[in-house]
Order: sequence, then C-alpha cells, then structure tokens
Amino acid sequence: MIISVASGKGGTGKTTVAVNLALSLENVQLLDCDVEEPNAHLFIKPEIKEKISAFTTIPQVDETICTYCGKCQKVCAYNALAVIPSSKKKGTVLIFPHLCHGCGACYLLCPQKAIKEIKREIGIIESGTVANLQFVHGILNVGEVMSPPLIRQVKKHINNTKTVIIDAPPGTSCPVIAAIKNTDFCILVTEPTPFGLNDLILTVEVVRKLNIPFGIIINRSDIGDNKTEVYCRENNIPILMRIPFSEDIARLYSQGIPVVNENEEYKKEFIQMFESIRHPIKRRMSDIMNII
Ligand code: SF4
Ligand code: SF4
Repeated sequence: MIISVASGKGGTGKTTVAVNLALSLENVQLLDCDVEEPNAHLFIKPEIKEKISAFTTIPQVDETICTYCGKCQKVCAYNALAVIPSSKKKGTVLIFPHLCHGCGACYLLCPQKAIKEIKREIGIIESGTVANLQFVHGILNVGEVMSPPLIRQVKKHINNTKTVIIDAPPGTSCPVIAAIKNTDFCILVTEPTPFGLNDLILTVEVVRKLNIPFGIIINRSDIGDNKTEVYCRENNIPILMRIPFSEDIARLYSQGIPVVNENEEYKKEFIQMFESIRHPIKRRMSDIMNII
C-alpha cells in the first residue's frame, strides 16, 4: 500500500505528517520525494547505508557526420537543441542540458544517426534505516531545474512488502505529479487560511484528475477561518484529522523531534487515521482485482 502526502502550499506541515505517520506504524518505508529540499531525515535521523548517483540522459552530437539539417531542433519540444548552420555545410549544434527532458526523440529522428545518449548526473539517492523503518530520499544537485527524473528514480526503490509513505514536494506541477502518481491514497495537508484553501482547491483538482482517492488533514486547525471545513463538506472530501496549533508541537519541531515520539495520544491519532484510510483502499484494490 502506497500513501502519498502532498500539499499545494509549502509550510503546511506535510513533512510533519509524513514523518509522524511513518513513525506511528509498523513495517514502513518512508520515501522523501521532496528532492529540492528534503528534510524528513532531520526528524527521522536514519543511518545512511547506501548512496548512489542519479542520472538523466542528454544528447551528444557527432559533428563529423552531422549535416546540420535541423531535424533534431524541430522535434525537440523543449528547445534543448539549436542547430546553427553556416556556409559550406558547416555549422554548430548547441545543446542546453538543463532544458533536455531526455525524451529521446532527437536520437530517434536524426537521419544521420549522429546523436548518442550520454549520462548527466542530476543528484544523489541515499537510503538507510532507523529501527525497523526503511528510509530513502533524493537530493537534487544545486542549480538543477528538473526534479521529476530524480523523483521517479527515488520511487524505483519502493518496497512493496511494506506500507510505503511518500513525502511529495509542495505545489501542483510536474514534481508533485511525479511523486503522487500511482499511489493508492493521497493525504492532502492544508491550513485554514485563504492561501491554504486556494492551494488546496488546486491540489484537489490534480488528485481528482489522477483518480487517486484522497482526504484532508487540517494542520493548525484552530487558527484562521472555517472556510476549509465548509469547502470539504460541500465537496464530500473527508477530513481525516485535525492537528491544533500547539506550542508543544512547534517546540518539538524546532528541535527536530517528531511529536509521536513524545506524545502517545498523537501516535494513537495517526494510527486511527491510517486505519480509516486503509480499509477503503483495501476494498478499492479488491474491486479492481475483481474487474481484472
Ligand atoms: S538531426 Fe542529426 S544530422 Fe540533423 S542537425 Fe540534428 S544531429 Fe545533425
Ligand atoms: S532528448 Fe528530447 S528533450 Fe532532450 S534534446 Fe532530444 S528531443 Fe530535446
């Protein structure tokens, strides 16, 4: 069972929820897919046992056989290639590695077979453990603009024998889609403020498009207004849990201590919340198996 934890708006407590849920359950793997700014490890404090480089591919042109026909430039939807012909069938092919999505179209369509793929490092993937918890995270290289390839490579480490919890990046664009795609349930963490609600509405549209069952956790639930509650009620969205604004939680957070390590009541709440989503997921999975 794979559960993703996402939030449209940054700073709503998404990582807090992912970490505390992971620490409340047995037999868990936690994947931090917020690769631009991973911070779950600061709370989990895993012993890192493996560190590997993550790569994407970019084209390399053999200009001794290139005719500067420009087909590669035309086919590239991301403007990652520029062919600049000059006189007497000479010219230059410029490659902009940070724009390349590694789609492979230019290699396939080059009539001269003048393009080959080469690897480019985009970050690292570290994995380790703490007690029985397996932990994996990706760290995107500084200055790297495309996180989805690294997120997809972190997800290749998913251990299907465990309950997998994915801490997704904030936002509603490609990185969050790469992180939550193909998960069995998505927990959306929000806060009851106008900005929180605005970004929640956008994220709900994304998870609905991806056809992922989801529910909401309202963090700092006793501040702001009740518009988030009204929105959830009017749109039949289950509120899975409410976490009040608490000086104790904030103090523990600032010290890098997950609240469930200090407060059994919160641990029980996270377990109850997990049980409330586990049974509908199991039912949905068996329905799918029956259809197949
Ligand atoms: S498609 Fe091939 S031959 Fe044509 S410009 Fe690109 S690399 Fe050169
Ligand atoms: S691999 Fe795809 S994105 Fe990259 S340069 Fe070639 S066509 Fe463009």
